[in-house]
Amino acid sequence: RHTRYLHARVAPLGTTFVLVLCDDQTEARRLNAVRRDFVANVSHELKTPIGAISLLAEAVTDFADDPEAVERFGGRMQQESKRLSQLVQEIIDLSRVQDHEAPGNTETVLISSVIEDAVDRARTQAEAKNITVQVATGGDWYVEGSYELLVNAVRNLVDNAINYSNEGTQVGIGAKLDDERIAIAVTDQGIGLSTEDTERVFERFYRVDPARSRVTGGTGLGLSIVKHIVATHGGDVRVWSKLGQGSTFTIVLPLARPDHVDAPHDAALE
Ligand code: ADP
Repeated sequence: RHTRYLHARVAPLGTTFVLVLCDDQTEARRLNAVRRDFVANVSHELKTPIGAISLLAEAVTDFADDPEAVERFGGRMQQESKRLSQLVQEIIDLSRVQDHEAPGNTETVLISSVIEDAVDRARTQAEAKNITVQVATGGDWYVEGSYELLVNAVRNLVDNAINYSNEGTQVGIGAKLDDERIAIAVTDQGIGLSTEDTERVFERFYRVDPARSRVTGGTGLGLSIVKHIVATHGGDVRVWSKLGQGSTFTIVLPLARPDHVDAPHDAALE
Protein backbone atom coordinates (compact mmCIF):
# COMPACT_ATOMS: atom_id res chain seq x y z
CA ARG A 1 0.00 0.00 0.00
CA HIS A 2 3.03 2.24 0.29
CA THR A 3 4.13 4.30 -2.63
CA ARG A 4 7.47 2.94 -3.71
CA TYR A 5 9.94 5.08 -5.54
CA LEU A 6 12.56 3.44 -7.64
CA HIS A 7 15.76 5.34 -8.10
CA ALA A 8 17.08 4.59 -11.53
CA ARG A 9 20.61 5.43 -12.44
CA VAL A 10 21.64 5.03 -16.03
CA ALA A 11 25.37 4.91 -16.65
CA PRO A 12 26.98 4.71 -20.07
CA LEU A 13 29.48 1.86 -20.27
CA GLY A 14 31.04 1.68 -23.68
CA THR A 15 28.19 1.10 -26.06
CA THR A 16 25.97 -0.65 -23.46
CA PHE A 17 23.90 1.03 -20.76
CA VAL A 18 23.66 -0.32 -17.24
CA LEU A 19 20.43 0.27 -15.35
CA VAL A 20 20.74 0.06 -11.57
CA LEU A 21 17.59 -0.03 -9.48
CA CYS A 22 18.15 0.84 -5.83
CA ASP A 23 15.05 -0.21 -3.98
CA ASP A 24 16.56 -0.69 -0.53
CA GLN A 25 17.08 3.09 -0.20
CA THR A 26 13.33 3.48 -0.64
CA GLU A 27 12.61 0.92 2.06
CA ALA A 28 15.09 2.60 4.43
CA ARG A 29 13.41 5.95 3.78
CA ARG A 30 9.96 4.48 4.42
CA LEU A 31 11.12 2.89 7.68
CA ASN A 32 12.64 6.20 8.77
CA ALA A 33 9.35 7.96 8.11
CA VAL A 34 7.45 5.29 10.10
CA ARG A 35 9.93 5.71 12.98
CA ARG A 36 9.65 9.51 12.91
CA ASP A 37 5.86 9.25 12.94
CA PHE A 38 5.98 6.84 15.84
CA VAL A 39 8.26 9.09 17.90
CA ALA A 40 6.01 12.09 17.18
CA ASN A 41 2.92 10.09 18.24
CA VAL A 42 4.61 8.76 21.36
CA SER A 43 5.73 12.26 22.41
CA HIS A 44 2.24 13.60 21.87
CA GLU A 45 0.60 10.75 23.81
CA LEU A 46 3.05 11.07 26.72
CA LYS A 47 2.59 14.83 26.92
CA THR A 48 -1.14 14.52 27.66
CA PRO A 49 -0.92 12.69 31.01
CA ILE A 50 2.30 14.50 31.98
CA GLY A 51 0.59 17.85 31.33
CA ALA A 52 -2.44 16.77 33.35
CA ILE A 53 -0.29 15.63 36.30
CA SER A 54 1.58 18.91 36.29
CA LEU A 55 -1.66 20.97 36.30
CA LEU A 56 -3.15 18.80 39.03
CA ALA A 57 0.00 19.21 41.14
CA GLU A 58 -0.39 23.01 40.84
CA ALA A 59 -4.06 22.72 41.78
CA VAL A 60 -3.22 20.64 44.88
CA THR A 61 -0.82 23.39 46.03
CA ASP A 62 -3.39 26.13 45.33
CA PHE A 63 -6.13 24.29 47.23
CA ALA A 64 -3.90 22.99 50.04
CA ASP A 65 -6.38 24.14 52.72
CA ASP A 66 -9.37 22.41 51.12
CA PRO A 67 -9.15 18.67 52.02
CA GLU A 68 -11.97 17.70 49.64
CA ALA A 69 -10.28 19.34 46.66
CA VAL A 70 -6.91 17.83 47.61
CA GLU A 71 -8.51 14.37 47.69
CA ARG A 72 -10.18 14.91 44.33
CA PHE A 73 -7.06 16.23 42.62
CA GLY A 74 -4.94 13.53 44.28
CA GLY A 75 -7.25 10.81 42.94
CA ARG A 76 -7.02 12.22 39.43
CA MET A 77 -3.25 12.43 39.68
CA GLN A 78 -3.22 8.73 40.54
CA GLN A 79 -5.39 7.93 37.53
CA GLU A 80 -3.18 9.94 35.18
CA SER A 81 0.00 8.31 36.59
CA LYS A 82 -1.55 4.88 36.06
CA ARG A 83 -2.36 5.82 32.51
CA LEU A 84 1.17 7.08 31.97
CA SER A 85 2.75 3.88 33.22
CA GLN A 86 0.35 1.74 31.13
CA LEU A 87 1.26 3.78 28.07
CA VAL A 88 4.99 3.38 28.72
CA GLN A 89 4.52 -0.38 29.23
CA GLU A 90 2.59 -0.72 25.96
CA ILE A 91 5.18 1.30 24.06
CA ILE A 92 7.88 -1.04 25.40
CA ASP A 93 5.76 -4.11 24.49
CA LEU A 94 5.17 -2.80 21.00
CA SER A 95 8.80 -1.92 20.32
CA ARG A 96 9.79 -5.40 21.56
CA VAL A 97 7.47 -7.22 19.19
CA GLN A 98 7.44 -5.02 16.13
CA ASP A 99 11.06 -5.49 15.11
CA HIS A 100 11.13 -9.24 15.52
CA GLU A 101 10.36 -11.79 12.92
CA ALA A 102 10.34 -14.61 15.47
CA PRO A 103 8.89 -14.44 18.99
CA GLY A 104 12.21 -15.04 20.81
CA ASN A 105 11.99 -17.94 23.28
CA THR A 106 9.83 -20.41 21.44
CA GLU A 107 8.11 -23.30 23.12
CA THR A 108 5.16 -25.54 22.35
CA VAL A 109 2.12 -23.82 23.75
CA LEU A 110 -1.23 -25.35 24.67
CA ILE A 111 -3.90 -22.99 23.34
CA SER A 112 -6.52 -23.86 25.98
CA SER A 113 -4.01 -22.75 28.65
CA VAL A 114 -3.45 -19.43 26.88
CA ILE A 115 -7.20 -18.79 26.71
CA GLU A 116 -7.85 -19.72 30.33
CA ASP A 117 -4.97 -17.59 31.56
CA ALA A 118 -6.04 -14.57 29.47
CA VAL A 119 -9.64 -14.85 30.73
CA ASP A 120 -8.48 -15.24 34.36
CA ARG A 121 -6.43 -12.07 34.11
CA ALA A 122 -9.49 -10.16 32.79
CA ARG A 123 -11.92 -11.64 35.34
CA THR A 124 -12.01 -8.70 37.80
CA GLN A 125 -12.66 -6.25 35.01
CA ALA A 126 -15.55 -8.39 33.70
CA GLU A 127 -17.06 -8.74 37.18
CA ALA A 128 -16.91 -4.98 37.71
CA LYS A 129 -19.22 -4.58 34.68
CA ASN A 130 -21.30 -7.63 35.43
CA ILE A 131 -20.23 -9.16 32.12
CA THR A 132 -20.36 -12.97 31.76
CA VAL A 133 -17.39 -14.47 29.95
CA GLN A 134 -18.17 -17.79 28.27
CA VAL A 135 -15.18 -19.92 27.43
CA ALA A 136 -14.93 -22.87 25.01
CA THR A 137 -11.29 -23.88 24.75
CA GLY A 138 -11.78 -26.73 22.27
CA GLY A 139 -9.29 -29.61 22.09
CA ASP A 140 -5.62 -30.07 23.01
CA TRP A 141 -4.23 -27.92 20.25
CA TYR A 142 -0.71 -26.58 20.26
CA VAL A 143 1.13 -23.78 18.52
CA GLU A 144 4.81 -22.89 18.55
CA GLY A 145 5.75 -19.56 20.04
CA SER A 146 5.88 -17.54 23.23
CA TYR A 147 3.33 -18.38 25.92
CA GLU A 148 3.46 -14.90 27.50
CA LEU A 149 3.13 -13.05 24.19
CA LEU A 150 0.16 -15.18 23.15
CA VAL A 151 -1.58 -14.59 26.50
CA ASN A 152 -0.87 -10.88 26.04
CA ALA A 153 -2.53 -10.93 22.57
CA VAL A 154 -5.65 -12.84 23.68
CA ARG A 155 -5.89 -10.76 26.86
CA ASN A 156 -5.89 -7.57 24.78
CA LEU A 157 -8.87 -8.83 22.77
CA VAL A 158 -10.77 -9.91 25.89
CA ASP A 159 -10.04 -6.55 27.58
CA ASN A 160 -11.37 -4.69 24.55
CA ALA A 161 -14.46 -6.91 24.35
CA ILE A 162 -15.22 -5.95 27.97
CA ASN A 163 -14.24 -2.28 27.64
CA TYR A 164 -16.37 -1.66 24.56
CA SER A 165 -19.48 -3.47 25.86
CA ASN A 166 -22.28 -2.33 28.11
CA GLU A 167 -22.89 -3.71 31.58
CA GLY A 168 -24.65 -7.06 31.86
CA THR A 169 -23.77 -8.29 28.35
CA GLN A 170 -21.87 -11.44 27.34
CA VAL A 171 -18.42 -12.02 25.94
CA GLY A 172 -17.54 -15.32 24.32
CA ILE A 173 -14.14 -16.78 23.62
CA GLY A 174 -13.64 -19.99 21.72
CA ALA A 175 -11.05 -21.95 19.74
CA LYS A 176 -11.62 -24.17 16.75
CA LEU A 177 -9.62 -25.83 14.01
CA ASP A 178 -9.50 -24.16 10.64
CA ASP A 179 -7.53 -26.39 8.21
CA GLU A 180 -3.97 -26.63 9.51
CA ARG A 181 -4.57 -23.62 11.68
CA ILE A 182 -6.27 -22.73 14.89
CA ALA A 183 -8.74 -19.88 15.17
CA ILE A 184 -9.31 -18.14 18.50
CA ALA A 185 -12.38 -15.90 18.35
CA VAL A 186 -13.41 -13.28 20.89
CA THR A 187 -17.01 -12.11 20.44
CA ASP A 188 -18.87 -9.33 22.21
CA GLN A 189 -22.30 -7.71 22.13
CA GLY A 190 -20.77 -4.27 22.46
CA ILE A 191 -20.82 -0.97 20.63
CA GLY A 192 -19.34 -2.37 17.41
CA LEU A 193 -17.37 -0.59 14.70
CA SER A 194 -18.15 1.06 11.38
CA THR A 195 -16.59 -0.40 8.20
CA GLU A 196 -14.08 2.49 8.01
CA ASP A 197 -13.04 1.92 11.60
CA THR A 198 -12.59 -1.85 11.21
CA GLU A 199 -10.02 -1.00 8.54
CA ARG A 200 -8.08 1.29 10.86
CA VAL A 201 -8.24 -0.22 14.36
CA PHE A 202 -4.92 -2.06 14.00
CA GLU A 203 -3.03 1.18 13.35
CA ARG A 204 -0.86 2.46 16.18
CA PHE A 205 -2.62 4.99 18.41
CA TYR A 206 -5.87 4.73 16.45
CA ARG A 207 -8.93 5.19 18.67
CA VAL A 208 -12.46 5.47 17.38
CA ASP A 209 -13.50 7.66 20.26
CA PRO A 210 -10.52 9.09 22.17
CA ALA A 211 -12.78 10.40 24.96
CA ARG A 212 -14.20 6.93 25.62
CA SER A 213 -10.75 5.38 25.42
CA ARG A 214 -9.53 7.84 28.02
CA VAL A 215 -12.27 6.62 30.37
CA THR A 216 -11.40 2.96 29.76
CA GLY A 217 -7.67 3.74 30.01
CA GLY A 218 -7.14 2.84 26.34
CA THR A 219 -3.97 3.91 24.57
CA GLY A 220 -4.77 2.92 20.99
CA LEU A 221 -1.80 0.55 21.01
CA GLY A 222 -3.47 -2.70 22.12
CA LEU A 223 -4.54 -3.96 18.71
CA SER A 224 -1.26 -3.07 17.02
CA ILE A 225 0.50 -5.10 19.72
CA VAL A 226 -1.90 -7.99 18.96
CA LYS A 227 -1.23 -7.66 15.24
CA HIS A 228 2.56 -7.76 15.70
CA ILE A 229 2.48 -10.66 18.18
CA VAL A 230 0.29 -12.70 15.85
CA ALA A 231 2.45 -11.84 12.83
CA THR A 232 5.63 -13.00 14.61
CA HIS A 233 3.83 -16.33 15.14
CA GLY A 234 3.10 -16.66 11.43
CA GLY A 235 -0.60 -15.93 11.87
CA ASP A 236 -3.05 -13.11 11.29
CA VAL A 237 -5.86 -11.33 13.05
CA ARG A 238 -9.26 -10.47 11.54
CA VAL A 239 -12.23 -8.47 12.63
CA TRP A 240 -15.91 -8.65 11.90
CA SER A 241 -18.07 -5.95 13.40
CA LYS A 242 -21.36 -4.17 13.12
CA LEU A 243 -22.14 -0.82 14.75
CA GLY A 244 -24.47 -1.28 17.71
CA GLN A 245 -24.40 -5.08 17.47
CA GLY A 246 -20.94 -6.17 18.49
CA SER A 247 -17.62 -7.46 17.20
CA THR A 248 -15.65 -10.63 16.70
CA PHE A 249 -11.86 -10.48 16.64
CA THR A 250 -10.24 -13.71 15.44
CA ILE A 251 -6.60 -14.70 15.81
CA VAL A 252 -5.54 -17.43 13.37
CA LEU A 253 -2.30 -19.30 14.09
CA PRO A 254 -0.52 -22.22 12.43
CA LEU A 255 -0.70 -25.42 14.48
CA ALA A 256 2.54 -26.83 15.90
CA ARG A 257 4.00 -29.68 13.87
CA PRO A 258 2.98 -32.96 15.58
CA ASP A 259 6.64 -34.04 16.01
CA HIS A 260 7.25 -30.81 18.00
CA VAL A 261 4.56 -31.55 20.57
CA ASP A 262 6.72 -33.52 22.98
CA ALA A 263 7.38 -31.18 25.92
CA PRO A 264 4.60 -28.62 25.68
CA HIS A 265 4.23 -25.60 27.91
CA ASP A 266 1.14 -26.05 30.06
CA ALA A 267 0.66 -23.33 32.69
CA ALA A 268 -1.67 -25.66 34.63
CA LEU A 269 1.31 -27.91 35.41
CA GLU A 270 3.42 -25.12 36.93
P1 ADP B 1 -7.45 1.02 23.06
O1 ADP B 1 -6.29 0.96 24.00
O2 ADP B 1 -7.95 2.41 22.80
O3 ADP B 1 -8.53 0.06 23.40
P2 ADP B 1 -6.84 -0.71 20.80
O4 ADP B 1 -5.69 -0.64 19.85
O5 ADP B 1 -6.96 -1.92 21.63
O6 ADP B 1 -6.77 0.61 21.66
O7 ADP B 1 -8.16 -0.51 19.96
C1 ADP B 1 -8.25 0.56 19.04
C2 ADP B 1 -9.67 1.10 18.99
O8 ADP B 1 -10.52 0.12 18.39
C3 ADP B 1 -10.28 1.36 20.36
O9 ADP B 1 -9.97 2.66 20.81
C4 ADP B 1 -11.77 1.18 20.11
O10 ADP B 1 -12.32 2.39 19.63
C5 ADP B 1 -11.81 0.15 18.98
N1 ADP B 1 -12.12 -1.22 19.49
C6 ADP B 1 -11.23 -2.17 19.83
N2 ADP B 1 -11.85 -3.31 20.20
C7 ADP B 1 -13.17 -3.06 20.11
C8 ADP B 1 -14.36 -3.84 20.36
N3 ADP B 1 -14.31 -5.11 20.78
N4 ADP B 1 -15.55 -3.23 20.12
C9 ADP B 1 -15.64 -1.95 19.68
N5 ADP B 1 -14.57 -1.18 19.44
C10 ADP B 1 -13.35 -1.71 19.64
